[in-house]
Amino acid sequence: MVACPKCGRTLPARKLLFLSNLNAITCPVCSSKLRVKNKDVNSVIGGVGGGLGGGLGTLLLIMWVQSGNMAYVGLIILLIVAVFLSAWLLEIRYLKLKAEETSVQSM
Ligand SMILES: [Zn+2]
Repeated sequence: MVACPKCGRTLPARKLLFLSNLNAITCPVCSSKLRVKNKDVNSVIGGVGGGLGGGLGTLLLIMWVQSGNMAYVGLIILLIVAVFLSAWLLEIRYLKLKAEETSVQSM
């Protein structure tokens, strides 16, 4: 799980859904602004997830157009959900956070 570097409390996993390399989330316990520490890990997860999802999604889309079989639409939706969930789980597992300096807040 991902914990707040300031107060050490575990952050709710759904908070990480909205966290990217560009924005910050607020710790619900100590209100620290938290940013992604290992941005490269986050980029890799996003890149692999996006690439894999996009590639397979395109493949399924082509198969759907060619066959006209509606079952492929279900597969595409399933794929999007699966990629989204695994990216989320990887973030929870590997992401590290750092507290942002509170002197300047540019949100
Ligand atoms: Zn905290």
